[in-house]
Formats: sequence, C-alpha cells, structure tokens
Amino acid sequence: MKDCIFCQIGEHELPAQIVFEDEEVVAFKDINPKAPVHILIIPKKHIPTVNHIGQKDVKLLGTLVIRAKDIAKKLQIDQNGYRLVFNTGTHSGQVVDHIHLHLLGGGPLGSIA
Ligand code: AMP
Ligand code: ZN
Repeated sequence: MKDCIFCQIGEHELPAQIVFEDEEVVAFKDINPKAPVHILIIPKKHIPTVNHIGQKDVKLLGTLVIRAKDIAKKLQIDQNGYRLVFNTGTHSGQVVDHIHLHLLGGGPLGSIA
C-alpha cells in the first residue's frame, strides 16, 4: 500500500529503528514509546486491522506472536513479563491502519483488563 507508513517501513522507504526483520515480518521501536521497551511487530503484508484477518492469515499471526516472544527474550524482558496488544478500530485508539502487535515491557505496566 503506497500511502501506508508501516508498508513504507517494511520496504525501507521510511526510516525506523529496526530490531528484527525476516521475509514476513519487521519489528521496530515505537517512535512515541508508552513503556521503557515499546516495539511494534508488523507483517510486511498490508492488513488494515484485526477485523480484516481470516483463516488464511493464521500462520502469519502466529508468527507475529512468536517473533514478539523472541524479541522479548533478546531484550531481556521475558522473565519479568510484558504485554502484547493489537489495537483495533476507533475505540481502541488505533491510528495506523496496518496491523501491528505492540510489545510493551521493561517495567510495571499497570492493569488494563
Ligand atoms: P496504534 O494506536 O495501535 O495504531 O499505534 C500506532 C503506534 O505507531 C503508536 O504507538 C505510534 O507512536 C507508532 N508510530 C507511528 N508512526 C511511527 C513511526 N514512523 N515509527 C515508529 N512508530 C510509529
Ligand atoms: Zn500497510
């Protein structure tokens, strides 16, 4: 998607502090971190929101979670814990319409649910 900033990051057309990349996935530091560690894990494939995923995306979505777990371990926040979040739609505050998994940690996060 030409006008999508996360597609542009995935294609290296926009700069980002990339912490992991493979054929399917890119992970980079959030530009406005809400926790000491705040990483966004995205598929290179453009999917706007969780509302747009289907059975065909099961493997890709599973891969995002596995990559998040591996990054948490690499950044040494796995033992104390972290939070994985998919914001979806207006009420959640989703502002970028390219699915992204937030990895938040590095300190106490407070309770949200
Ligand atoms: P969401 O509210 O779930 O759509 O989250 C979007 C996130 O993307 C926010 O936490 C922003 O700080 C972050 N963000 C927006 N633009 C960039 C960018 N160019 N590089 C890194 N993070 C970004
Ligand atoms: Zn996109």
